[in-house]
Amino acid sequence: MTGTAKKATRDWQSLDAQHYLHPFTDFHDLGRKGSRIITRAEGVYIHDSDGRRILDGMAGLWCVNLGYGRRDLAEVAYRQLLELPYYNSFFQCSHPPAIELADLLAELSPGDFQHVFFTGSGSEANDTQIRLIRRYWTLMGEPERMTIIARKNAYHGSTIAGASLGGMGPMHEQTVLTVPGIAHIDQPYHFKLGGDLDPDEFGLQQARLLEEKILELGPEKVAAFFAEPVQGAGGVIIPPDTYWPEIQRICDEYGILLVADEVITAFGRLGHWFGSEHFGIRPDLISFAKGVSSGYLPLGGALVGKRVADVITAKGGEFAHGYTYSGHPACCAVALAALRAMQDEHIIEYVRDDLAPYFNARWAALADHPIIGEARSVGMVGAIEIVRDKSTRARFDEDLGAGTRCRDLSVDGGLVMRAVGDTMIVSPPLVADHGHIDELVDKAWQSLDRTAASLAAEN
Ligand SMILES: *Cc1c(COP(=O)(O)O)cnc(C)c1O
Repeated sequence: MTGTAKKATRDWQSLDAQHYLHPFTDFHDLGRKGSRIITRAEGVYIHDSDGRRILDGMAGLWCVNLGYGRRDLAEVAYRQLLELPYYNSFFQCSHPPAIELADLLAELSPGDFQHVFFTGSGSEANDTQIRLIRRYWTLMGEPERMTIIARKNAYHGSTIAGASLGGMGPMHEQTVLTVPGIAHIDQPYHFKLGGDLDPDEFGLQQARLLEEKILELGPEKVAAFFAEPVQGAGGVIIPPDTYWPEIQRICDEYGILLVADEVITAFGRLGHWFGSEHFGIRPDLISFAKGVSSGYLPLGGALVGKRVADVITAKGGEFAHGYTYSGHPACCAVALAALRAMQDEHIIEYVRDDLAPYFNARWAALADHPIIGEARSVGMVGAIEIVRDKSTRARFDEDLGAGTRCRDLSVDGGLVMRAVGDTMIVSPPLVADHGHIDELVDKAWQSLDRTAASLAAEN
C-alpha cells in the first residue's frame, strides 16, 4: 500500500489549497473550487478520491505512453534503487544504466546521433541545448552566431531559458527578463492564421518567415532554429506538408543548426521513434523527455548529432554544464526498460499501422459536431476547434470560457481532455485499443453536446 493514509476528498482538498502551489494554476481560483484528487491508475484509466474512473485522454501530460500500473517498470526501479540508487557522472565516473540507455537511444534515433546528454526534464534538456549551441559556435570560431530563432506559441519548458525560448505570451510577461539572443517568428497554425490560403501555400509562407528573420538579423549572427515538429501545448498545431521541407532547405542554405524539440513527438507518439522521421526533418540536435520513461520517473536529455558532437568532443576544454541528476541510475533503468518494452511489444508498429489510423478516422468525424470548426490529428495527438460559427471560424465570447467549460464537463463525463483556449486536445496512451478510442470519441462528442447546451443556456 501507499504511505499516505486515506482521507475524505474535502480533507485532501483543504490541505491541498493550504500548502501545495500547483504548476500553471490560478491559486485563488483553485482554493475556491478544490482540486480533483487522483489516487490511483490502471491501464488507460485514472481513479479519483470519490471512486470515479476517468479515461486518460492525455496520457498524464503526454507521457504515460505505456499506460499505468506496469509492474515490470516498478520492479526495475525497485531493484535499481537497491543496487545503486544514486551516483553522479561527474569527475569521470559512470554507471551501467546510463551507459546502456545512451547506447539504446543512439540506436533508435534517426540520422547520425551517437551521443546523448541526460537531464531531469524537458525544460532542462532545452537549457542544455542552448548551452550546446553556443559552445558549438564558439568552438567553431564564430562566436557572433548567438541568436536562436524559435516560434510564437511554442512550448519549450518553464525554466527561464525554456520560457524565453518558448513563445507563450503570458509566460514572457511574467518572466520579465527573458534570456537574450532569442527571436521569434510566427507559427504554422492554419486554422487560426491561414484565412483563405490553401494549407500548402500557407505552409510555405510561414516557413519563409524563417528566411526573412535570418536576413533581418544577419545570417552570420544566427546560431539555430528551434521548434517542435508538432506544437503540443500550443494546441496540437500540425504544420502543412510544405512547411518542414522548406524549413529544412532554409536551415541548410544558411548553415544554421536545427533543433527538434521532440519532448512530446518522440517514442511512438507519431508512429515513429522520433517525430522528425514522420516529417522528414534532419535535425542536428533533439530534445526528449516525457515518453522516454513513460512518465514513471523523471528523465530528459539532448541527443547530439555528429555535426555538433564532432566539434565538442574533438576540441579540448571542459563543457562547464551538468545537473546532479544527469543520468540518474533509477530513472535511466526505468527508461531503458520502457523503451525495451516498446520494442518487445511492437508499440511503434501498432501505433503506425493500427491504432493511429483508427484514431485519426474516428477523431475526424468530430468535425461534424455543430460547435466544431476543425478536427485534426496526426499519429496519436488530436485537436478540435470550438467555434460559434463553423463557416466563419468565429469563436464564442472569451468570457464564456468555452474551452475550460468543455474540459470540466468532459472530466465530469469520464474523459480527460485538455483545453488550450477554445482548442480541445488529446494525446492518449499508446497502449489504448479500438474500444478505448471509441469511448474517447463518444465521450468527447457528449462533452461537446453538453458544452453547446451550457453555452446556449447562458445566452
Ligand atoms: C513538456 C514539454 C517541455 C518541458 O518538459 P518538462 O519535463 O515539463 O520540463 C519542453 N518541450 C516540449 C515540447 C514539451 O511538451
